[in-house]
Amino acid sequence: MTPYRIPYGCQSINQADIDAVLQVLKSPWLTQGPTIERFEQALADYCQAGHAVAVCNATAALHIACLTAGLGPGDFLWTSPNTFVASANCGRYCGAEVDFVDIDPHTWNMDAALLAQKLELAERNGTLPKVVVVVAFAGQSADMQAIAELAERYGFVLIEDAAHAVGASYLGLPVGCGTYAAMTIFSFHPVKIITSAEGGMVLTNRPEFAERLRRLRSHGITSDPALMQIPDTGLWYYQQLELGFNYRMTDLHAALGLSQMSRLDEFVARRRELAARYQMLLADLPLTLPVAQSGSDSAWHLYVVRLDLSRIRLTQKQVFDELRAAGLGVNLHYIPVHLQPYYQEQGFAEGDYPEAERYFREALSLPLYPELTDELQDEVVTHLQRILD
Ligand SMILES: *Cc1c(COP(=O)(O)O)cnc(C)c1O
Repeated sequence: MTPYRIPYGCQSINQADIDAVLQVLKSPWLTQGPTIERFEQALADYCQAGHAVAVCNATAALHIACLTAGLGPGDFLWTSPNTFVASANCGRYCGAEVDFVDIDPHTWNMDAALLAQKLELAERNGTLPKVVVVVAFAGQSADMQAIAELAERYGFVLIEDAAHAVGASYLGLPVGCGTYAAMTIFSFHPVKIITSAEGGMVLTNRPEFAERLRRLRSHGITSDPALMQIPDTGLWYYQQLELGFNYRMTDLHAALGLSQMSRLDEFVARRRELAARYQMLLADLPLTLPVAQSGSDSAWHLYVVRLDLSRIRLTQKQVFDELRAAGLGVNLHYIPVHLQPYYQEQGFAEGDYPEAERYFREALSLPLYPELTDELQDEVVTHLQRILD
């Protein structure tokens, strides 16, 4: 589906994946059926989490996670400016105000020290956030231990947007285990680590959160007599307890996601191998390479470098255009969210988050996906050498 010979990211679909989807297609359950539960259980087991709730995409997952955290009008949600817009939009869906915490100049994740400073100020002003969405940028968790301590102290709900990070670990535990975040979100969009075409999941250890997430994904409806306000009715009875959505995953998508789970470790291992090769092959070029945060073992959704523009004759755009002209689908993750016209209308302006803006003017995402061969990767490196020298 990509016009580029070497895209920046790409799914890997094998015969077992295709067979798994076909099997569901011939079964009585096409929409939400038994395969969803198997996919949820497989991911909960893998991540050592108590509960997993599958939904139609990670944007929906973020939305219902925010509602479950109690986010509403008059509340604040904080996130990183260096992310996909969905990490911030979920706050707006709930009618809350969105604000940002600038990034660490080395890991490009939310800066925990800046978060601590901003919280101190917000406490004095009575504007503490109800939810903080912390992104595991490129597949590497932020300083979640420090941020979880802040969550405890200031009483916000910590949501980890781990759309990039299924298969990653942090301080020896799988991302999603719930030791630090109250809820963790994964995405199964084709460019992410594993795919269900479209799909997302929320992981949590709190049963009351899981129950609410399940209800919100399906119209706010329950069929559980214990939860109904009028007990003892027919089997056909259900009640809508609140305003929910149709955010359900289908069993077709779940079958693909579940099948991909069996190759998750293999995918992440290959991504790590390729990232290590880039680190070695690009070491002498005028680039800043990604830095591993201690304790984090990234799933390497993205391999981002920063151009050292003082040592390069070309502009960022020229480098980008030259690589694309050579058939490389390089990309840029991310345009700082607060610079989007929609967020400018909310009052944000250039200069608000200088680290994210500086990063944005230098960043470049290189091709990285499990089926990328050493030979094609060498070609990416050769083009970079030619263009940057
Ligand atoms: C991809 C992505 C999302 C949204 O995922 P969808 O499944 O496409 O809705 C959210 N946050 C981040 C950081 C992402 O990269």
